Amino acid sequence: MTLMRFESAFTMETSSIKFGPGVTREVGYDMKQLGGRRVMVVTDPNLAKSEPVNIILNALRSEGIDAVLFDQVRVEPTDVSLKKAIQFAIEGKFDGFIGVGGGSSMDTAKVANLYSTYPADFLVYVNRPIGEGLPVPGLLKPLIAVPTTAGTGSETTGIAIFDFLEMHTKTVITHRALKPVMGVVDPNNTRTLPNMVAACTGMDVLSHALESLTSIPFHKRPAPEHAGLRPTYQGANPISDIWAIRAIEMVSQNIVHVINDPLDDNARSQMLLAASFAGIGFGNAGVHLPHGMSYPVARMVRDYIPEGYKTDHPIIPHGMAVILNAPAIFRFTAPANIERHLLAAKLMGVDVSDANLKDAGILLAKAIIDLMRQIGMPNGLRGVGFGPDDVDKLVAGTLPQHRITKLSPRPANTTDLKKLFLKSMVLW
Ligand SMILES: [Zn+2]
Repeated sequence: MTLMRFESAFTMETSSIKFGPGVTREVGYDMKQLGGRRVMVVTDPNLAKSEPVNIILNALRSEGIDAVLFDQVRVEPTDVSLKKAIQFAIEGKFDGFIGVGGGSSMDTAKVANLYSTYPADFLVYVNRPIGEGLPVPGLLKPLIAVPTTAGTGSETTGIAIFDFLEMHTKTVITHRALKPVMGVVDPNNTRTLPNMVAACTGMDVLSHALESLTSIPFHKRPAPEHAGLRPTYQGANPISDIWAIRAIEMVSQNIVHVINDPLDDNARSQMLLAASFAGIGFGNAGVHLPHGMSYPVARMVRDYIPEGYKTDHPIIPHGMAVILNAPAIFRFTAPANIERHLLAAKLMGVDVSDANLKDAGILLAKAIIDLMRQIGMPNGLRGVGFGPDDVDKLVAGTLPQHRITKLSPRPANTTDLKKLFLKSMVLW
């Protein structure tokens, strides 16, 4: 009999970051340095005529770079929408890529880069068990990511998320080679964000940081059989903790200011920086139950459209779907790592000096709910159209997400998941 060996190493992977108001104008110079001469600029239809996209096209062209706009990104990409971008990339023979927009645009740019550089059947690079999960064969072409929402942190990660339509499930393509060479993080690009978008993307940032801080520690995961099999999501580790801890503070201190006054430049800058910080954290540690349980919530949307969202289809935005279940989840996971849950509550501004350790989960959940109420999040799953009858399907939609749910500090079986969804119906 052989005993299971535990992991004893962790890695730190991230893109380089350029941060500051106006840095988008330098993107032509940056791309030229990277050797791009014919560049695909990837965005969604809402942003096609926006200021950030215009600035990027002009910046590239003024450096003599041939810039071609692809504006058919689907917000919440699918395998079908990704294939459109791949086709465009193959036909365009590009030697550089820029993803500008939310996570959807940046992720679509990563995938277009991958499949046009190393063409393959779509499922070849898609994570197991849905795809074959083959590693990216080598270096990709330079990709610069320019976020226009303070949310996904996709500018720092080698992860692309999409809906696989045939199987009705979210899945990912993930490999360190997918990482943008550079994230251009420019607070000017988030100035016109509608309030509800800022609120939802801010909740995504908060949850990325809370989940990476509370995920299972890296040394409690089984060791990989060889170095190439070490996963992107390694569990909490000393480096990811630093980024997650700071991101929790930054979101908690700034999100209400951003919602009340979108022209508060300092608060908006802090939120955008927090998104990158949290991205560095969770890009190495991973996320767990709030993200795993969010995917069926988002996919099973019936007719909900949040205020201020320009969309032709009903949508429960990613950050909203993530945060709706978070309070119940953290009450559930707290006993597995009381100190970390108490630390998270403290970072969110809760006075924990006299707190009873067993209340760590309750305190953290309450801090999240208080913030949700201040920024206008719906009151639980009922607020976006679900009822107790939906719970079995929500659970069934969560089970295939074991790649991330297994990073929960406390394992959750079918009965646990059922209870968690039920407790998330109404939050206050
Ligand atoms: Zn997220």
